[in-house]
Amino acid sequence: MRLVLVGPPGAGKGTQAQILSTTLGVPHISTGDLFRAHIGGQTELGREVKQYLDAGQLVPDEVTVNMVRERLDEQDTAAGFLLDGFPRTTAQADVLTGLLDAKGQRLDAVIEFDVPEDVVVERLLARGREDDKEDVIRHRQQVYRSETAPLLAYYRNILVTIDAVGSVQEISERALKALRASE
Ligand code: ADP
Repeated sequence: MRLVLVGPPGAGKGTQAQILSTTLGVPHISTGDLFRAHIGGQTELGREVKQYLDAGQLVPDEVTVNMVRERLDEQDTAAGFLLDGFPRTTAQADVLTGLLDAKGQRLDAVIEFDVPEDVVVERLLARGREDDKEDVIRHRQQVYRSETAPLLAYYRNILVTIDAVGSVQEISERALKALRASE
């Protein structure tokens, strides 16, 4: 199964991605986690992207797309994957379509985590990751609205929207149920 998760920062995509990846038996690929691993490991790519993460800005497509392309070329993605944080723009979505086309593959579904903005801002302030400062959070929400939300129309034919307010278990059950119903 090839899935993409979409939702505003703080929607709980990372938590749900881990559960769904275990349940569905496909690797979880989070561009945010990959970038943070590079930053932590002080790689050249990490040094290049740190300023963007700190400011809540999107990393330039060229860097992001190369990293994702390499990850999708690894063997463990052959039978499926769960992408979390990519694509984040319609330009990235076009690239993904091209990468998958070249392998004779396509996405099965895009899951949207629907959460009101005031709820996600509260959650992020409580989480307190390095980029969870109020002005940076606000900027990330703005970027979501202007750059990422257009993906919902882009993927309307395979979009599965779930209400992402509730307990972790309720939400993963909703997601799995909605996926089964979309098949
Ligand atoms: P959140 O969902 O809370 O914004 P992520 O871990 O998904 O957290 O992303 C953190 C940061 O990583 C983003 O603010 C952005 O700087 C960078 N990033 C992640 N994915 C992408 C992407 N597809 N394109 C560009 N930048 C990205």
